Amino acid sequence: MTELIFLGVGAIRPDRPGEHTAFLLRYGKANVLIDAGPAVMMQLDRVGVKPEEITHIYLSHQHGDHVLGSPVFLFYHAPRYLLAAHQVIEAWQAMVDAVYPHIMDILNTELELHPLPSHQPHMWPNLPGVCARLALVHHANLPAYALRLDFPATTGENARSAFSLVYSGDTSPTESVTELAKDADLLIHEATYLETEHPQGDGIHSSAEQAGAIAKAAGVKKLALVHRSAGDPAAWIERASRAFDGEIIAPSPGDRLSLPI
Ligand SMILES: [Zn+2]
Repeated sequence: MTELIFLGVGAIRPDRPGEHTAFLLRYGKANVLIDAGPAVMMQLDRVGVKPEEITHIYLSHQHGDHVLGSPVFLFYHAPRYLLAAHQVIEAWQAMVDAVYPHIMDILNTELELHPLPSHQPHMWPNLPGVCARLALVHHANLPAYALRLDFPATTGENARSAFSLVYSGDTSPTESVTELAKDADLLIHEATYLETEHPQGDGIHSSAEQAGAIAKAAGVKKLALVHRSAGDPAAWIERASRAFDGEIIAPSPGDRLSLPI
């Protein structure tokens, strides 16, 4: 079974500390961690996953609420891939050099850094048949990326149809996300605030209604609202539904989504 676990769904100041947005994708033998904020070890512990089980770490951008937990994985021994756009990997290496100088000289035989092309479709190591693609987004003048994963259809006794998943990362409303998410089965879009908080937007993040508008423009089947500030999740769904009439969820930390792949 393929499963997506919402380890955290919060923005920089979520409802409770330790809820920064991160996901775990369990696909075949792969356990793909998507973003790794300061509480990621506790987030994994809460859902019963050991750090040694993580096979891939993908980082959307270099902000602390998305990467600060990742250097600790260097102390949990297992062969593992770190995947991100090359500028994000450069920033990650500088961070690791600052917090654990020279550790990469000792441990880098276990961790393979895997820079990703920014727009071309490509494959990830040990993720057979899955096509990945990144798109540059608008976020605080940093290199920040949305990610699309297309999972292949399978045949035989347990035949499955193809499935596509898109994660916006942190972004203000961006045309490249709409293009990347075209006809996707699931769009996980950041929705940092409600329109009532920032009627004009903050120029860095998206609102719930803006996330809904992108879901509609892209023609996705389902929208998950993450990277939310503190507040009632129902209010996020209500706002997004003003722009998008498909299925909308506002998951809680620890929620699991079974994917039909
Ligand atoms: Zn963030």
